Amino acid sequence: MKTFTGKGVYGAVAIGTVSVFKKQDAAVKRVHVEDTEAEKRRVAAAKELSSSQLQEIYEKALKEVGEANAAIFETHRILLDDDDYNDSICNIIESQSVNAEYAVAVTADHFAEMFLAIDDAYMKARAADIRDISGRLIGNLTGAAADGSMTGGKVIICASDLSPSETVSLDKEKVLAFVTACGSSNSHTAILARNMNIPAVIGVGEAFLSVIEDGGEMIVDGFTGEVFWNPDEETRRRLSDKKKEDEEKKRLLQELKGRENITLDGRKVNIYANIGSVDNIGAVLLNDAGGIGLFRSEFLYLENSDYPTEEEQFSAYKRVLESMAGKKVIIRTLDIGADKQVDYFGLKKEENPALGLRAIRICLTRPELFKTQLRALYRASAYGNLGIMFPMITSVSELTEILVLCKEVREELSAQGVGYAENVELGIMIETPAAALISDRLAPMVDFFSVGTNDLTQYTLACDRQNPDMERFVDTHHEAVLRLIEMSAQNAHQHGAWIGICGELAADTTLTETFLKMGIDELSVSPSFVLQVRDVVRKLKITP
Ligand code: PEP
Ligand code: MG
Repeated sequence: MKTFTGKGVYGAVAIGTVSVFKKQDAAVKRVHVEDTEAEKRRVAAAKELSSSQLQEIYEKALKEVGEANAAIFETHRILLDDDDYNDSICNIIESQSVNAEYAVAVTADHFAEMFLAIDDAYMKARAADIRDISGRLIGNLTGAAADGSMTGGKVIICASDLSPSETVSLDKEKVLAFVTACGSSNSHTAILARNMNIPAVIGVGEAFLSVIEDGGEMIVDGFTGEVFWNPDEETRRRLSDKKKEDEEKKRLLQELKGRENITLDGRKVNIYANIGSVDNIGAVLLNDAGGIGLFRSEFLYLENSDYPTEEEQFSAYKRVLESMAGKKVIIRTLDIGADKQVDYFGLKKEENPALGLRAIRICLTRPELFKTQLRALYRASAYGNLGIMFPMITSVSELTEILVLCKEVREELSAQGVGYAENVELGIMIETPAAALISDRLAPMVDFFSVGTNDLTQYTLACDRQNPDMERFVDTHHEAVLRLIEMSAQNAHQHGAWIGICGELAADTTLTETFLKMGIDELSVSPSFVLQVRDVVRKLKITP
């Protein structure tokens, strides 16, 4: 047995036979041609064929993974029609008297390099799209199958990498799982895998390809990211049990998709999902969350080696909003500091970082940084249903300052003729006892509260959430924490605001009944808990 470890992008177990995904031969030869017009006609015909293939893939993806995720194939069709791209191919054919395949390959390299040189993560990712459409075009020019080959039967597809169109073109009926040597969890491929419910592990390393063979036995554990080649008896038994358990759980929960989050006595609650990165949206959609209750925006800062620009932030927020297609998306402003340290912020070392310069305190100390994020958020608001939420609030004066800055940003955008949505909800996290205790003063100033039970518990019980030795002193159901939540709920409702919970406690189903009785309107949990919480809600009776 040999074990490889990568990143599990969809949690499930698959046991089966390997099929090594064979891409078409990408080596394109440079051939001198006399009749350049004939080459250009070949390009036009290949383009037409590629366009209709992409249309088919788009329709397939639309059914399987929804409009927002299928959109990538529409983008590919648009790129295929791009004038600059096509002019470049024709110019190369004409000026160098070369074959169409060669002109496409050179153009692909040129455009991909151009995208890669742009200092924007979204634009860099377009390089892969250019290579994808060019590969298809070359495949159609040479008459090779555009989507690689797949041997019959149900198999585990193993590849160096898979492009989005290759991923969605895989016949789901025949694919048990897929494993790739390369690839990032941010890629469209990973998002599609999650939404297609195909167990998948990516980035196991190139060495894996020199070990595996067509027809060999493999087990893929999408939960742990482990891949077992030639598994031994014990591993086979263990993973087989895990697979059965998981399938049974999912089978039962799947029946709840599309169902309402409603108690037996008619009380409705919103069940949203928490995400830390744009690439979690697949899981949100897959688990039928009603919206995103907490998008921890600091990931953008943590993943970068310098401050993310307004443009970078704008494109990330826009992508989340567009993918959620009109459903509520609550983005929390930067919550850096304490356990989340970023070198380039140059923060001073603190004796008690959890009680120090973190989250909104940094933003209010450095308003230019905060306003960049607010601008990006308001600009993105035009693309969906946005709520903005502020972390670590302790006073009315902080919130007043925040609201002034928000107003300033809106006025600046209006003066510049930049559009934004008028109905962006503004809310605060209740994660300090101070905020809960003055929630009657804070509620009239906002549209919503969201209780961050992780920090609220830490600050109420005076137990550092980072310190494992504190665990025995932390009672997550402590009456003090529950009273603060209840007090916040009453004050929110009294002043016309709604209240949710986005800390880990929201997924503690032993408390769901308590929360609903308190009047909590929304529970925001990790995507994979959405259906579990729905299940519990639907079995509850709230009124005595
Ligand atoms: C919380 O404190 O409960 C919360 C949701 O925020 P974070 O865990 O990101 O601090
Ligand atoms: Mg917190």
